[in-house]
Amino acid sequence: MCAITAGYRGRSVLVLDHANKPGKKILMSGGGRCNFTHLNSTPANFLSENPHFCISALKRYTPHHFLEWVERHGIEYFEKTPGQLFCQHSAKDILNMLLTEADWAGVEISLNTSIESVDRHQTGYELNTSSGIIQCESLVVATGGLSIPTMGASPFGYRIAEQFGHQILPTRAGLVPLTLQPVDLERFSVLSGIAADAIVSVDNTRFKESILFTHRGLSGPGILQISSFWEPGNDIHVQLMPDLDLESTLKQWRQEAPNKTLEQMLSQSLSKRLAQVLCEWKGWSGKLQNYSNQRLSEITSELTDIIIKPNGTEGYRTAEVTLGGVDTKELSSKTMMSSLQEGLYFIGEVVDVTGHLGGHNFQWAWASGFAAGNVV
Ligand SMILES: Cc1cc2nc3c(=O)[nH]c(=O)nc-3n(C[C@H](O)[C@H](O)[C@H](O)COP(=O)(O)OP(=O)(O)OC[C@H]3O[C@@H](n4cnc5c(N)ncnc54)[C@H](O)[C@@H]3O)c2cc1C
Repeated sequence: MCAITAGYRGRSVLVLDHANKPGKKILMSGGGRCNFTHLNSTPANFLSENPHFCISALKRYTPHHFLEWVERHGIEYFEKTPGQLFCQHSAKDILNMLLTEADWAGVEISLNTSIESVDRHQTGYELNTSSGIIQCESLVVATGGLSIPTMGASPFGYRIAEQFGHQILPTRAGLVPLTLQPVDLERFSVLSGIAADAIVSVDNTRFKESILFTHRGLSGPGILQISSFWEPGNDIHVQLMPDLDLESTLKQWRQEAPNKTLEQMLSQSLSKRLAQVLCEWKGWSGKLQNYSNQRLSEITSELTDIIIKPNGTEGYRTAEVTLGGVDTKELSSKTMMSSLQEGLYFIGEVVDVTGHLGGHNFQWAWASGFAAGNVV
């Protein structure tokens, strides 16, 4: 995005990437269909030490700007959950669109190129690369985060930032599955592959999205979202059947089906296996007619606040994003330029701006790239 924007301004642009193919993250994103933006993306959808930093760039390059391109290129797309736009066919469509625009803008792309060193020289920067020495007036660092090292992720962008005096805020995996303590894993791993609607929360942050049991722990949109807010040692709170007024529903079940068990009735709203595991775990057996109001009230409390203490995350191996990164304190929110080094820019995920799940991370990548591309 940055290269294209600068190219259309008549700048001579060279993109260096050590990967053998461009846009690998785009290709693997959104399950191969790239959730390329979120129509309702606002600064509230981003985590950063400075939550105001992203406002300017997001305002000047909105989801509708990107969508306008997508439509102009005739790419079919659909809205999965409200606001989340995915390619109808393949993430390749987005990559091809960007490569076509890059071509039209006269951008040169040099793949399989590793960068040994970056130095300042009189009028800009000098890079020692595997394809020789390259000099440039402006240097834009768009090396992304640490997630999925097998796809070419590296800490190189952080090292360049440090070399030129920037602070790096501690990095950790975000939008990542959570792993469970052995006792919880033993209890829940039989549910591997089962999903449930839920509200998942940590402290005051909550997401109403589904969760998925896996053979390692918990995943699914609700868990990925909350993982970005979870810190080791924290509990997460899970409310199952979030659309039901649970206490009234339990009382209604008791009245309408007094001879049925709670497990039988829960199986109507949850998967049968999940209902069974919950009832065995909590010792909820016997006919509903034997449950007092107080017991139903206690069961309601337990189902609306299942407390789980994860023992970690699956880490960068499977994380969609990296939290933290180049501190925004020393970057211009209008241009992404370093306030310490003229002509040095940081955009995208390498910066300490991380979006919620749902297309926000690409929106940040497009918006910050556009901001820098207009001035480099
Ligand atoms: C599995 C998965 C699914 C995702 N799905 C979505 C989604 O659907 N929607 C969404 O909004 N976000 C999604 N994301 C997040 C999104 O992909 C990233 O936030 C986004 O790609 C960041 O863009 P970027 O340009 O900053 O970095 P990247 O896209 O990571 O690009 C960085 C580039 O820098 C190159 N590079 C790194 N180090 C070096 C080096 N030392 N030398 C030379 N080149 C280097 C890499 O090869 C890479 O091409 C997903 C992420 C993952 C991992």
